Amino acid sequence: RAKSQSRGSISIFEPQMDQQLRDRRVLHQDLSAAIRNGELSLHYQPQARAGQTVVDADITGFEALARWIHPTRGFVPPGDFIPLAEESGLIVEMGEWILRRACLEAASWPVPLQIAVNLSPAQFMHGDLVGLVHSILLETGLQPGRLELEITEGVLIEDFDRGVALLRRLKALGVRISMDDFGSGYSSLTYLQAFPFDKIKIDRAFVINLGLNPQSAAIVRAVIGLGHGLDVAIVAEGVETHEQLCFLASEGCDGVQGYFIGRPAPIAQYAALVGRIAAATPAARMVG
Ligand code: C2E
Ligand code: MG
Ligand code: MG
Ligand code: MG
Repeated sequence: RAKSQSRGSISIFEPQMDQQLRDRRVLHQDLSAAIRNGELSLHYQPQARAGQTVVDADITGFEALARWIHPTRGFVPPGDFIPLAEESGLIVEMGEWILRRACLEAASWPVPLQIAVNLSPAQFMHGDLVGLVHSILLETGLQPGRLELEITEGVLIEDFDRGVALLRRLKALGVRISMDDFGSGYSSLTYLQAFPFDKIKIDRAFVINLGLNPQSAAIVRAVIGLGHGLDVAIVAEGVETHEQLCFLASEGCDGVQGYFIGRPAPIAQYAALVGRIAAATPAARMVG
């Protein structure tokens, strides 16, 4: 109701707004200042080839995950502030910052590991995403094949044709496209048929339940088979135990990501790992 009132009368309704709504409005304002104030940062979580064990040489890259440390509230989860940024349109500016930051970081590594960046549906609907990705690749000098853009099915649900067209243009730049959170929400096989994803990430809800119910194991096994049939790499998210890792490896899952392999952390915490991988990588393989 307050929304339909003229600007000047909003304050009259303010006392009647419930706490949650007022909280949200304040958080909105704070979020728009967050980039300027340097409150936004990225954490990085390793991805690895699946095997009974995971050693340095199995690390294939990192996923960048946005972090917001609010000056008074402290840590605000991305699950809270990303949707907020989407509603307000702030996601375009924020997404640009995230993409640039992640590509700059990866370009500075002494070894050409992959860098995965999450894109939200709103970034597809507003602004020139293809132009942005292209110019950030040029600006940072990152080899396009090292960048993976993670999208959820939301991108395709909102406007299927536009989504597929945009993904094709992104792919033409040489970047890789991953389907994130597969199996959650309304994931449809139609999406897999309509677009040549490079990677499918199995939602961690299925991985969590691996040892607990046979249905999850059956679903994970089927998705791995699907991936192999479509020639798409399958990565399992949320791997927290050695048992989960062993099951996934024995089923032929290609990649793994989760606390068991490594937690999301500031890149400084992974600098030594990246250095060891670089030191163990023959120079000939480090071109690009
Ligand atoms: P996501 O892209 O599926 O990222 C994986 C989430 O699972 C991350 O949560 C990560 O911290 C968490 N995770 C990883 N391994 C484990 C594990 O073993 N166990 C458990 N319980 N959790 C694990 P996070 O960082 O809170 O991010 C949540 C979601 O917020 C992300 O899901 C992504 O959809 C969104 N997000 C995060 N950063 C960005 C960003 O820069 N841009 C956009 N558009 N969305 C982002
Ligand atoms: Mg291994
Ligand atoms: Mg992701
Ligand atoms: Mg995910």
